[in-house]
Amino acid sequence: MITESAFTKVDAGIIAQLTEILGQANVSTTQADIDLHSRDQSQHPAHASEVVVWPQTGEQVAQILRLANEHHIPVTPWGVGTSLEGNPIPVYGGILLTFERMTNIVQVHADDFQVTVQPGIGHKDLNAQLARQGLFFAPDPGANATVGGMLANNAAGIRTVKYGASKDNVLQMQVALADGRLIRVGSRSIKQSAGYDLLHLFVGSEGTLGIITEATLKLVPIAPYMSAALAAFDSVEDAVEAVVAVRGSGLDPAALELIDAAHAAMLREAEGVNLTDHVTLFMEFHSAHEESLDMGLEMVKEICEELGAVSFRSTTDPTERRQLWHARHASYEIMVRSHPDTGFFINDVAVPISAYPELIGYVEELKAEHGVTAYMIGHAGDGNIHVEFPYANEEEYKRSQMFNKLIVMKALSLNGTATGEHGVGIGKAPYMVNEHGPALDVMRSIKQLLDPNGILNPGKIFPPAQ
Ligand SMILES: Cc1cc2nc3c(=O)[nH]c(=O)nc-3n(C[C@H](O)[C@H](O)[C@H](O)COP(=O)(O)OP(=O)(O)OC[C@H]3O[C@@H](n4cnc5c(N)ncnc54)[C@H](O)[C@@H]3O)c2cc1C
Repeated sequence: MITESAFTKVDAGIIAQLTEILGQANVSTTQADIDLHSRDQSQHPAHASEVVVWPQTGEQVAQILRLANEHHIPVTPWGVGTSLEGNPIPVYGGILLTFERMTNIVQVHADDFQVTVQPGIGHKDLNAQLARQGLFFAPDPGANATVGGMLANNAAGIRTVKYGASKDNVLQMQVALADGRLIRVGSRSIKQSAGYDLLHLFVGSEGTLGIITEATLKLVPIAPYMSAALAAFDSVEDAVEAVVAVRGSGLDPAALELIDAAHAAMLREAEGVNLTDHVTLFMEFHSAHEESLDMGLEMVKEICEELGAVSFRSTTDPTERRQLWHARHASYEIMVRSHPDTGFFINDVAVPISAYPELIGYVEELKAEHGVTAYMIGHAGDGNIHVEFPYANEEEYKRSQMFNKLIVMKALSLNGTATGEHGVGIGKAPYMVNEHGPALDVMRSIKQLLDPNGILNPGKIFPPAQ
Protein backbone atom coordinates (compact mmCIF):
# COMPACT_ATOMS: atom_id res chain seq x y z
CA MET A 1 0.00 0.00 0.00
CA ILE A 2 1.33 3.46 -0.94
CA THR A 3 1.65 5.96 1.90
CA GLU A 4 2.83 9.57 1.96
CA SER A 5 5.99 8.35 3.74
CA ALA A 6 6.94 6.20 0.72
CA PHE A 7 7.92 9.41 -1.08
CA THR A 8 10.53 12.11 -0.63
CA LYS A 9 9.55 15.78 -0.33
CA VAL A 10 10.64 18.22 -3.01
CA ASP A 11 13.43 20.33 -1.48
CA ALA A 12 15.58 23.23 -2.65
CA GLY A 13 18.12 20.81 -4.18
CA ILE A 14 15.43 19.18 -6.35
CA ILE A 15 14.06 22.59 -7.40
CA ALA A 16 17.59 23.60 -8.43
CA GLN A 17 17.97 20.44 -10.55
CA LEU A 18 14.54 20.92 -12.16
CA THR A 19 15.52 24.52 -12.95
CA GLU A 20 18.72 23.29 -14.55
CA ILE A 21 16.74 20.92 -16.81
CA LEU A 22 13.92 23.33 -17.69
CA GLY A 23 15.04 26.92 -17.02
CA GLN A 24 13.59 29.15 -14.31
CA ALA A 25 10.52 30.21 -16.33
CA ASN A 26 9.32 26.59 -16.50
CA VAL A 27 9.42 25.74 -12.78
CA SER A 28 7.00 27.24 -10.26
CA THR A 29 6.17 26.83 -6.60
CA THR A 30 3.75 29.77 -6.44
CA GLN A 31 0.44 29.10 -4.71
CA ALA A 32 -1.50 30.26 -7.80
CA ASP A 33 0.20 27.68 -10.07
CA ILE A 34 -0.14 24.91 -7.48
CA ASP A 35 -3.85 25.72 -6.99
CA LEU A 36 -4.53 25.86 -10.74
CA HIS A 37 -3.28 22.27 -11.05
CA SER A 38 -4.76 20.79 -7.89
CA ARG A 39 -8.13 19.49 -9.07
CA ASP A 40 -9.91 18.35 -12.21
CA GLN A 41 -13.59 18.90 -13.14
CA SER A 42 -14.88 16.21 -10.78
CA GLN A 43 -16.15 16.43 -7.20
CA HIS A 44 -12.93 14.85 -5.86
CA PRO A 45 -11.11 17.13 -3.39
CA ALA A 46 -8.17 19.23 -4.53
CA HIS A 47 -4.65 18.23 -3.53
CA ALA A 48 -1.58 20.43 -3.82
CA SER A 49 1.57 19.34 -5.64
CA GLU A 50 4.90 20.73 -4.38
CA VAL A 51 6.15 22.12 -7.69
CA VAL A 52 4.64 22.66 -11.16
CA VAL A 53 6.89 22.15 -14.21
CA TRP A 54 6.40 22.92 -17.91
CA PRO A 55 8.67 20.73 -20.09
CA GLN A 56 9.02 21.52 -23.80
CA THR A 57 10.64 18.35 -25.14
CA GLY A 58 10.46 14.59 -24.62
CA GLU A 59 14.09 14.58 -23.50
CA GLN A 60 13.25 17.04 -20.70
CA VAL A 61 10.35 14.82 -19.56
CA ALA A 62 12.72 11.83 -19.48
CA GLN A 63 15.28 13.79 -17.44
CA ILE A 64 12.61 14.87 -14.94
CA LEU A 65 11.50 11.26 -14.52
CA ARG A 66 15.06 10.04 -14.04
CA LEU A 67 15.53 12.63 -11.28
CA ALA A 68 12.17 11.89 -9.64
CA ASN A 69 12.74 8.13 -9.76
CA GLU A 70 16.16 8.41 -8.18
CA HIS A 71 14.71 10.45 -5.29
CA HIS A 72 11.30 8.67 -5.02
CA ILE A 73 9.25 11.78 -5.84
CA PRO A 74 5.73 11.36 -7.29
CA VAL A 75 5.11 12.77 -10.78
CA THR A 76 1.58 13.47 -12.00
CA PRO A 77 1.09 14.40 -15.66
CA TRP A 78 -1.49 17.07 -16.52
CA GLY A 79 -3.20 17.93 -19.82
CA VAL A 80 -5.80 20.62 -19.09
CA GLY A 81 -7.48 18.95 -16.12
CA THR A 82 -10.91 18.23 -17.66
CA SER A 83 -11.06 14.68 -16.25
CA LEU A 84 -14.15 13.63 -14.34
CA GLU A 85 -12.77 10.91 -12.03
CA GLY A 86 -9.92 12.73 -10.27
CA ASN A 87 -7.42 11.27 -12.78
CA PRO A 88 -4.81 14.13 -12.76
CA ILE A 89 -5.12 15.20 -9.08
CA PRO A 90 -1.64 14.99 -7.49
CA VAL A 91 -2.88 13.13 -4.40
CA TYR A 92 0.65 12.47 -3.08
CA GLY A 93 2.04 15.93 -3.89
CA GLY A 94 5.41 15.88 -5.65
CA ILE A 95 5.96 17.15 -9.20
CA LEU A 96 3.00 18.25 -11.33
CA LEU A 97 4.16 17.93 -14.94
CA THR A 98 1.95 19.93 -17.25
CA PHE A 99 1.94 19.79 -21.06
CA GLU A 100 0.63 23.33 -21.53
CA ARG A 101 3.89 24.28 -23.34
CA MET A 102 4.12 21.18 -25.57
CA THR A 103 1.37 22.06 -28.04
CA ASN A 104 3.09 21.83 -31.43
CA ILE A 105 2.02 19.94 -34.50
CA VAL A 106 5.30 18.17 -35.31
CA GLN A 107 4.30 17.07 -38.83
CA VAL A 108 1.17 16.52 -40.91
CA HIS A 109 1.53 13.40 -43.06
CA ALA A 110 -1.43 14.35 -45.28
CA ASP A 111 -0.86 11.59 -47.85
CA ASP A 112 -0.96 8.99 -45.07
CA PHE A 113 -3.92 10.62 -43.23
CA GLN A 114 -1.77 11.02 -40.13
CA VAL A 115 -0.41 13.77 -37.92
CA THR A 116 2.38 13.73 -35.33
CA VAL A 117 1.80 16.06 -32.38
CA GLN A 118 3.14 17.01 -29.00
CA PRO A 119 0.77 15.79 -26.25
CA GLY A 120 -0.41 19.19 -24.98
CA ILE A 121 -2.31 20.24 -28.09
CA GLY A 122 -6.10 20.48 -27.61
CA HIS A 123 -8.07 18.28 -30.01
CA LYS A 124 -10.23 21.25 -31.05
CA ASP A 125 -7.15 23.38 -31.77
CA LEU A 126 -5.67 20.49 -33.75
CA ASN A 127 -8.85 20.06 -35.79
CA ALA A 128 -9.08 23.79 -36.50
CA GLN A 129 -5.65 23.56 -38.16
CA LEU A 130 -6.30 20.25 -39.94
CA ALA A 131 -9.58 21.51 -41.45
CA ARG A 132 -7.57 23.47 -44.05
CA GLN A 133 -6.37 20.13 -45.40
CA GLY A 134 -9.83 18.53 -45.26
CA LEU A 135 -8.85 16.18 -42.44
CA PHE A 136 -9.82 15.68 -38.81
CA PHE A 137 -8.91 13.68 -35.68
CA ALA A 138 -12.19 11.95 -34.87
CA PRO A 139 -12.43 11.31 -31.08
CA ASP A 140 -14.41 14.23 -29.70
CA PRO A 141 -14.92 14.61 -25.95
CA GLY A 142 -16.90 17.75 -25.17
CA ALA A 143 -14.08 19.71 -23.56
CA ASN A 144 -10.99 20.94 -25.43
CA ALA A 145 -9.00 18.08 -23.90
CA THR A 146 -5.37 17.55 -24.87
CA VAL A 147 -4.29 14.66 -27.10
CA GLY A 148 -2.09 13.36 -24.24
CA GLY A 149 -4.98 13.47 -21.74
CA MET A 150 -7.29 11.79 -24.26
CA LEU A 151 -4.84 8.97 -24.99
CA ALA A 152 -4.06 8.54 -21.28
CA ASN A 153 -7.78 8.26 -20.42
CA ASN A 154 -8.70 6.51 -23.68
CA ALA A 155 -11.31 9.23 -24.09
CA ALA A 156 -14.15 8.80 -26.54
CA GLY A 157 -17.06 11.07 -27.44
CA ILE A 158 -19.90 11.71 -29.82
CA ARG A 159 -18.26 10.33 -32.99
CA THR A 160 -16.91 7.11 -31.43
CA VAL A 161 -19.88 5.13 -32.74
CA LYS A 162 -18.43 5.48 -36.28
CA TYR A 163 -14.75 6.36 -35.85
CA GLY A 164 -13.77 4.67 -32.58
CA ALA A 165 -12.25 5.90 -29.30
CA SER A 166 -8.76 7.39 -28.79
CA LYS A 167 -7.24 3.89 -28.76
CA ASP A 168 -8.51 3.28 -32.30
CA ASN A 169 -7.02 6.51 -33.64
CA VAL A 170 -3.38 6.31 -32.58
CA LEU A 171 -0.55 4.55 -34.40
CA GLN A 172 2.66 5.42 -32.63
CA MET A 173 3.78 7.20 -29.46
CA GLN A 174 6.99 8.34 -27.81
CA VAL A 175 6.80 7.47 -24.12
CA ALA A 176 9.09 8.47 -21.23
CA LEU A 177 9.42 5.67 -18.69
CA ALA A 178 9.81 6.09 -14.94
CA ASP A 179 13.55 5.28 -15.12
CA GLY A 180 14.15 8.01 -17.73
CA ARG A 181 14.22 5.83 -20.87
CA LEU A 182 12.52 7.37 -23.90
CA ILE A 183 10.95 4.70 -26.13
CA ARG A 184 8.81 4.53 -29.28
CA VAL A 185 5.84 2.20 -29.26
CA GLY A 186 3.73 1.24 -32.29
CA SER A 187 4.50 2.16 -35.88
CA ARG A 188 3.20 4.55 -38.56
CA SER A 189 2.03 1.53 -40.54
CA ILE A 190 -1.75 0.96 -40.29
CA LYS A 191 -1.13 -2.77 -39.98
CA GLN A 192 1.13 -3.78 -37.10
CA SER A 193 1.77 -7.26 -35.78
CA ALA A 194 5.34 -7.05 -34.51
CA GLY A 195 5.26 -8.47 -31.01
CA TYR A 196 3.49 -7.25 -27.89
CA ASP A 197 1.16 -4.30 -28.41
CA LEU A 198 2.91 -1.83 -26.10
CA LEU A 199 1.15 1.10 -27.78
CA HIS A 200 -2.19 0.03 -26.32
CA LEU A 201 -0.65 -0.84 -22.97
CA PHE A 202 0.09 2.86 -22.46
CA VAL A 203 -3.23 4.08 -23.93
CA GLY A 204 -5.74 4.25 -21.07
CA SER A 205 -3.03 3.88 -18.39
CA GLU A 206 -3.70 7.41 -17.07
CA GLY A 207 -0.03 8.31 -16.76
CA THR A 208 0.62 5.44 -14.31
CA LEU A 209 2.95 3.43 -16.60
CA GLY A 210 4.76 6.08 -18.64
CA ILE A 211 4.34 9.61 -19.92
CA ILE A 212 3.34 10.25 -23.54
CA THR A 213 5.66 12.85 -25.07
CA GLU A 214 4.61 12.60 -28.75
CA ALA A 215 1.87 10.79 -30.68
CA THR A 216 1.11 9.97 -34.31
CA LEU A 217 -2.64 9.97 -34.82
CA LYS A 218 -4.90 8.59 -37.53
CA LEU A 219 -6.91 11.21 -39.39
CA VAL A 220 -10.16 10.97 -41.33
CA PRO A 221 -11.14 12.97 -44.45
CA ILE A 222 -13.98 15.40 -43.69
CA ALA A 223 -17.07 13.94 -45.39
CA PRO A 224 -18.44 16.14 -48.20
CA TYR A 225 -22.05 15.54 -47.14
CA MET A 226 -23.29 15.60 -43.56
CA SER A 227 -26.68 15.80 -41.97
CA ALA A 228 -27.99 16.07 -38.44
CA ALA A 229 -31.29 14.49 -37.39
CA LEU A 230 -33.41 14.86 -34.27
CA ALA A 231 -36.02 12.34 -33.19
CA ALA A 232 -38.22 13.04 -30.15
CA PHE A 233 -39.93 10.31 -28.11
CA ASP A 234 -42.43 10.22 -25.25
CA SER A 235 -40.47 7.65 -23.29
CA VAL A 236 -36.84 6.71 -22.72
CA GLU A 237 -37.77 3.09 -23.51
CA ASP A 238 -39.00 3.98 -27.04
CA ALA A 239 -35.93 6.12 -27.71
CA VAL A 240 -33.60 3.35 -26.56
CA GLU A 241 -35.36 0.82 -28.79
CA ALA A 242 -34.81 3.20 -31.71
CA VAL A 243 -31.10 3.44 -30.82
CA VAL A 244 -30.75 -0.35 -31.06
CA ALA A 245 -32.72 -0.43 -34.34
CA VAL A 246 -30.68 2.38 -35.97
CA ARG A 247 -27.45 0.61 -34.92
CA GLY A 248 -28.78 -2.63 -36.39
CA SER A 249 -29.90 -1.03 -39.68
CA GLY A 250 -26.41 -0.82 -41.17
CA LEU A 251 -26.79 2.95 -41.61
CA ASP A 252 -23.55 3.62 -39.72
CA PRO A 253 -24.37 6.87 -37.88
CA ALA A 254 -21.44 9.19 -37.15
CA ALA A 255 -23.14 10.18 -33.88
CA LEU A 256 -26.10 8.72 -32.01
CA GLU A 257 -26.72 10.55 -28.77
CA LEU A 258 -29.56 10.47 -26.25
CA ILE A 259 -30.67 13.35 -24.04
CA ASP A 260 -33.58 13.17 -21.62
CA ALA A 261 -36.55 15.56 -21.63
CA ALA A 262 -35.05 17.76 -18.89
CA HIS A 263 -31.86 18.28 -20.91
CA ALA A 264 -33.94 19.02 -24.03
CA ALA A 265 -35.78 21.77 -22.14
CA MET A 266 -32.50 23.20 -20.76
CA LEU A 267 -30.91 23.32 -24.25
CA ARG A 268 -34.00 25.04 -25.67
CA GLU A 269 -34.02 27.67 -22.96
CA ALA A 270 -30.27 28.30 -22.81
CA GLU A 271 -29.26 27.93 -26.46
CA GLY A 272 -32.49 28.55 -28.36
CA VAL A 273 -32.38 25.07 -29.95
CA ASN A 274 -35.71 24.03 -31.42
CA LEU A 275 -36.48 21.14 -29.03
CA THR A 276 -39.62 20.03 -27.21
CA ASP A 277 -39.82 18.50 -23.71
CA HIS A 278 -39.15 14.98 -25.00
CA VAL A 279 -36.45 12.37 -24.79
CA THR A 280 -34.48 13.20 -27.93
CA LEU A 281 -31.99 11.38 -30.12
CA PHE A 282 -29.33 13.55 -31.77
CA MET A 283 -27.90 11.83 -34.84
CA GLU A 284 -25.39 12.65 -37.54
CA PHE A 285 -24.70 10.90 -40.83
CA HIS A 286 -21.68 11.32 -43.12
CA SER A 287 -21.52 10.35 -46.77
CA ALA A 288 -19.52 10.80 -49.96
CA HIS A 289 -22.81 11.08 -51.94
CA GLU A 290 -25.77 13.38 -51.43
CA GLU A 291 -28.28 10.81 -52.65
CA SER A 292 -27.14 8.06 -50.30
CA LEU A 293 -27.31 10.56 -47.43
CA ASP A 294 -30.92 11.42 -48.34
CA MET A 295 -31.86 7.74 -48.67
CA GLY A 296 -30.25 6.97 -45.30
CA LEU A 297 -32.16 9.80 -43.63
CA GLU A 298 -35.43 8.52 -45.05
CA MET A 299 -34.70 5.07 -43.56
CA VAL A 300 -33.84 6.54 -40.14
CA LYS A 301 -37.05 8.55 -40.18
CA GLU A 302 -39.07 5.38 -40.91
CA ILE A 303 -37.31 3.45 -38.13
CA CYS A 304 -37.86 6.20 -35.56
CA GLU A 305 -41.52 6.75 -36.52
CA GLU A 306 -42.26 3.03 -36.45
CA LEU A 307 -40.84 2.93 -32.92
CA GLY A 308 -43.01 5.79 -31.70
CA ALA A 309 -41.13 9.03 -32.49
CA VAL A 310 -43.49 11.95 -31.95
CA SER A 311 -41.41 14.16 -34.23
CA PHE A 312 -38.46 13.80 -36.58
CA ARG A 313 -36.52 16.46 -38.43
CA SER A 314 -33.22 16.60 -40.20
CA THR A 315 -30.97 19.28 -41.60
CA THR A 316 -27.98 19.52 -43.91
CA ASP A 317 -27.56 23.24 -43.21
CA PRO A 318 -24.02 23.52 -41.72
CA THR A 319 -24.94 26.43 -39.41
CA GLU A 320 -27.92 24.61 -37.90
CA ARG A 321 -25.90 21.40 -37.60
CA ARG A 322 -23.09 23.23 -35.77
CA GLN A 323 -25.62 24.93 -33.46
CA LEU A 324 -27.11 21.55 -32.53
CA TRP A 325 -23.74 19.98 -31.76
CA HIS A 326 -22.54 23.05 -29.95
CA ALA A 327 -25.63 22.79 -27.71
CA ARG A 328 -25.11 19.04 -27.19
CA HIS A 329 -21.46 19.63 -26.21
CA ALA A 330 -22.43 22.47 -23.88
CA SER A 331 -25.21 20.45 -22.21
CA TYR A 332 -23.18 19.70 -19.06
CA GLU A 333 -22.20 23.36 -18.52
CA ILE A 334 -25.79 24.43 -19.25
CA MET A 335 -27.11 21.99 -16.66
CA VAL A 336 -24.58 23.19 -14.07
CA ARG A 337 -25.45 26.84 -14.81
CA SER A 338 -29.18 26.06 -14.51
CA HIS A 339 -28.63 24.65 -10.99
CA PRO A 340 -26.66 27.21 -9.00
CA ASP A 341 -25.55 26.01 -5.53
CA THR A 342 -25.82 22.41 -6.68
CA GLY A 343 -23.01 19.93 -7.28
CA PHE A 344 -23.29 17.13 -9.84
CA PHE A 345 -22.09 13.58 -9.48
CA ILE A 346 -21.59 12.15 -12.96
CA ASN A 347 -21.85 8.46 -13.52
CA ASP A 348 -20.27 6.86 -16.63
CA VAL A 349 -20.97 3.22 -17.52
CA ALA A 350 -21.25 1.30 -20.79
CA VAL A 351 -22.77 -2.03 -21.82
CA PRO A 352 -23.13 -4.05 -25.04
CA ILE A 353 -25.78 -2.34 -27.17
CA SER A 354 -28.28 -5.22 -26.76
CA ALA A 355 -28.19 -4.65 -22.97
CA TYR A 356 -28.70 -0.87 -23.25
CA PRO A 357 -32.50 -1.01 -22.87
CA GLU A 358 -32.15 -3.11 -19.68
CA LEU A 359 -29.55 -0.73 -18.22
CA ILE A 360 -31.66 2.36 -18.96
CA GLY A 361 -34.78 0.60 -17.65
CA TYR A 362 -32.90 -0.12 -14.41
CA VAL A 363 -31.92 3.55 -14.00
CA GLU A 364 -35.53 4.61 -14.60
CA GLU A 365 -36.74 2.10 -11.98
CA LEU A 366 -34.19 3.34 -9.44
CA LYS A 367 -35.31 6.92 -9.98
CA ALA A 368 -38.97 6.02 -9.61
CA GLU A 369 -38.51 3.68 -6.63
CA HIS A 370 -36.40 6.14 -4.61
CA GLY A 371 -37.95 9.37 -5.87
CA VAL A 372 -34.53 10.74 -6.86
CA THR A 373 -33.86 13.45 -9.37
CA ALA A 374 -31.26 12.40 -11.91
CA TYR A 375 -30.65 13.43 -15.49
CA MET A 376 -29.51 11.22 -18.33
CA ILE A 377 -27.37 11.96 -21.32
CA GLY A 378 -25.44 9.39 -23.25
CA HIS A 379 -23.46 8.26 -26.23
CA ALA A 380 -26.30 5.84 -26.82
CA GLY A 381 -24.87 4.39 -30.04
CA ASP A 382 -21.96 3.01 -27.97
CA GLY A 383 -24.15 1.70 -25.13
CA ASN A 384 -22.68 4.45 -22.93
CA ILE A 385 -24.77 6.48 -20.46
CA HIS A 386 -24.00 9.30 -18.04
CA VAL A 387 -26.48 9.57 -15.17
CA GLU A 388 -26.08 12.96 -13.49
CA PHE A 389 -27.11 13.25 -9.84
CA PRO A 390 -27.55 16.75 -8.41
CA TYR A 391 -26.61 17.15 -4.75
CA ALA A 392 -26.90 20.13 -2.42
CA ASN A 393 -25.59 18.61 0.82
CA GLU A 394 -23.52 15.74 2.22
CA GLU A 395 -26.50 13.42 2.60
CA GLU A 396 -27.54 13.86 -1.07
CA TYR A 397 -23.93 13.40 -2.14
CA LYS A 398 -23.70 10.09 -0.26
CA ARG A 399 -27.00 9.00 -1.79
CA SER A 400 -25.72 9.78 -5.30
CA GLN A 401 -22.64 7.65 -4.58
CA MET A 402 -24.90 4.79 -3.52
CA PHE A 403 -26.90 5.05 -6.79
CA ASN A 404 -23.64 5.30 -8.74
CA LYS A 405 -22.52 2.03 -7.15
CA LEU A 406 -25.81 0.29 -7.99
CA ILE A 407 -25.63 1.43 -11.63
CA VAL A 408 -21.98 0.34 -11.94
CA MET A 409 -22.79 -3.10 -10.53
CA LYS A 410 -25.75 -3.42 -12.89
CA ALA A 411 -23.54 -2.49 -15.88
CA LEU A 412 -20.98 -5.11 -14.81
CA SER A 413 -23.71 -7.74 -14.46
CA LEU A 414 -24.67 -6.98 -18.08
CA ASN A 415 -21.09 -7.66 -19.29
CA GLY A 416 -20.39 -3.96 -19.39
CA THR A 417 -17.79 -1.75 -17.78
CA ALA A 418 -17.55 0.60 -14.78
CA THR A 419 -16.28 3.36 -17.06
CA GLY A 420 -17.01 3.78 -20.75
CA GLU A 421 -14.73 6.76 -21.33
CA HIS A 422 -13.84 8.82 -18.25
CA GLY A 423 -11.23 6.36 -17.00
CA VAL A 424 -10.68 5.00 -13.50
CA GLY A 425 -8.85 7.81 -11.68
CA ILE A 426 -9.87 7.80 -8.03
CA GLY A 427 -13.63 7.44 -8.46
CA LYS A 428 -13.79 4.09 -10.23
CA ALA A 429 -10.86 2.42 -8.45
CA PRO A 430 -13.14 0.65 -5.92
CA TYR A 431 -14.80 -1.29 -8.79
CA MET A 432 -11.65 -2.60 -10.46
CA VAL A 433 -11.67 -5.91 -8.55
CA ASN A 434 -15.30 -6.48 -9.56
CA GLU A 435 -14.53 -5.67 -13.19
CA HIS A 436 -11.20 -7.42 -13.65
CA GLY A 437 -10.92 -10.12 -10.95
CA PRO A 438 -7.49 -11.86 -11.08
CA ALA A 439 -6.55 -9.79 -14.18
CA LEU A 440 -6.08 -6.84 -11.80
CA ASP A 441 -3.08 -8.71 -10.28
CA VAL A 442 -1.55 -8.91 -13.77
CA MET A 443 -2.05 -5.14 -14.10
CA ARG A 444 -0.29 -4.70 -10.73
CA SER A 445 2.66 -6.79 -11.98
CA ILE A 446 2.93 -4.63 -15.11
CA LYS A 447 2.86 -1.50 -12.93
CA GLN A 448 5.58 -2.96 -10.68
CA LEU A 449 7.75 -3.80 -13.70
CA LEU A 450 7.51 -0.38 -15.35
CA ASP A 451 7.35 1.78 -12.23
CA PRO A 452 8.91 -0.16 -9.31
CA ASN A 453 9.04 2.93 -7.07
CA GLY A 454 5.39 3.81 -7.77
CA ILE A 455 6.20 7.42 -8.69
CA LEU A 456 3.90 7.73 -11.73
CA ASN A 457 0.51 9.24 -10.85
CA PRO A 458 0.23 7.29 -7.57
CA GLY A 459 -3.18 6.66 -6.02
CA LYS A 460 -4.98 6.02 -9.32
CA ILE A 461 -6.56 2.96 -10.96
CA PHE A 462 -5.75 0.47 -8.18
CA PRO A 463 -8.11 0.34 -5.19
CA PRO A 464 -6.53 1.32 -1.87
CA ALA A 465 -5.57 -1.77 0.18
CA GLN A 466 -8.23 -2.62 2.79
C1 LIG B 1 -17.85 19.14 -20.03
C2 LIG B 1 -17.06 17.89 -20.17
C3 LIG B 1 -17.43 16.95 -21.12
C4 LIG B 1 -16.69 15.79 -21.28
N1 LIG B 1 -17.07 14.89 -22.24
C5 LIG B 1 -16.34 13.78 -22.44
C6 LIG B 1 -16.68 12.85 -23.46
O1 LIG B 1 -17.66 13.03 -24.18
N2 LIG B 1 -15.91 11.77 -23.61
C7 LIG B 1 -14.80 11.54 -22.83
O2 LIG B 1 -14.11 10.54 -23.03
N3 LIG B 1 -14.46 12.38 -21.84
C8 LIG B 1 -15.19 13.49 -21.63
N4 LIG B 1 -14.83 14.36 -20.63
C9 LIG B 1 -13.69 14.04 -19.76
C10 LIG B 1 -12.32 14.62 -20.22
O3 LIG B 1 -12.44 15.70 -21.12
C11 LIG B 1 -11.46 13.53 -20.83
O4 LIG B 1 -11.19 12.51 -19.89
C12 LIG B 1 -10.10 14.01 -21.38
O5 LIG B 1 -9.44 12.94 -22.00
C13 LIG B 1 -9.17 14.63 -20.34
O6 LIG B 1 -8.14 15.32 -21.05
P1 LIG B 1 -7.26 16.45 -20.37
O7 LIG B 1 -6.36 16.99 -21.41
O8 LIG B 1 -8.11 17.41 -19.64
O9 LIG B 1 -6.41 15.56 -19.38
P2 LIG B 1 -6.23 15.65 -17.80
O10 LIG B 1 -7.56 15.65 -17.15
O11 LIG B 1 -5.32 16.76 -17.47
O12 LIG B 1 -5.48 14.27 -17.54
C14 LIG B 1 -6.13 13.06 -17.81
C15 LIG B 1 -5.26 11.88 -17.37
O13 LIG B 1 -4.19 11.75 -18.26
C16 LIG B 1 -2.92 11.87 -17.60
N5 LIG B 1 -2.10 12.57 -18.57
C17 LIG B 1 -2.26 13.81 -19.09
N6 LIG B 1 -1.35 14.04 -20.04
C18 LIG B 1 -0.59 12.91 -20.13
C19 LIG B 1 0.51 12.51 -20.95
N7 LIG B 1 1.03 13.31 -21.86
N8 LIG B 1 1.04 11.28 -20.75
C20 LIG B 1 0.51 10.43 -19.85
N9 LIG B 1 -0.52 10.75 -19.05
C21 LIG B 1 -1.07 11.97 -19.21
C22 LIG B 1 -3.24 12.60 -16.31
O14 LIG B 1 -2.33 12.30 -15.28
C23 LIG B 1 -4.63 12.04 -16.00
O15 LIG B 1 -4.50 10.78 -15.40
C24 LIG B 1 -15.56 15.55 -20.46
C25 LIG B 1 -15.18 16.48 -19.50
C26 LIG B 1 -15.92 17.65 -19.34
C27 LIG B 1 -15.49 18.64 -18.31
